[in-house]
Amino acid sequence: MAYHDDYEREPIGGGNPYYRCIHCKLAAPEINGRLEGHSLDCEYRLGKESGASEPSQRMVHAAVREAVSQGLLPKSAHGESEYLKMHNQIEAVLKAALDAK
Ligand SMILES: [Zn+2]
Repeated sequence: MAYHDDYEREPIGGGNPYYRCIHCKLAAPEINGRLEGHSLDCEYRLGKESGASEPSQRMVHAAVREAVSQGLLPKSAHGESEYLKMHNQIEAVLKAALDAK
């Protein structure tokens, strides 16, 4: 079974060490890599199930790696939130590029 852990996460906070899906707000340990672990109306889950023409996470990660190798981004992000910020910016750029087609 495929393990789905490429959804966007944010810290739960309030002393909780875990992250949660930014869309359905369910905790990562609860989701445990399962599409069904997300709520039925979770944007991530819906996107996966409909095979939407979103920029794929693979594209985003490739773009992040490319940017790092060109020195456009620092090699190591300061924590996961910093990385997510970069990740989301790049995803937005890719999305805009796809929409413009
Ligand atoms: Zn979710």
